[in-house]
Amino acid sequence: MDNLFVTPNSNWKEERERGNCWDNPVAREIFFSPTGTHMSPKQEHAAIQFCQGCPVQVQCLQYALDTNQPEGVWGGKGVAARRWLRKRYRRESA
Ligand code: SF4
Repeated sequence: MDNLFVTPNSNWKEERERGNCWDNPVAREIFFSPTGTHMSPKQEHAAIQFCQGCPVQVQCLQYALDTNQPEGVWGGKGVAARRWLRKRYRRESA
């Protein structure tokens, strides 16, 4: 997990097209709020479940951490989980 922070993912543009959510209308319903607001806890849980088994889950999470994505679910991790990963990494590398 630690190398997620060390090696920037420069291939995400190509890799994301292999993701389970790519061009997937079901995923669009799950990942994007119809009102354009934050994901509800229920919606976030559904998105996290959707990511399980995605062939680019690790790369997706890596991209979100690299670019400090402030919203949504990436690589099966929501905002709070990504924040926790960043904190843990900072603590361990201090
Ligand atoms: S891990 Fe989830 S958000 Fe990332 S590409 Fe796969 S399905 Fe999409």
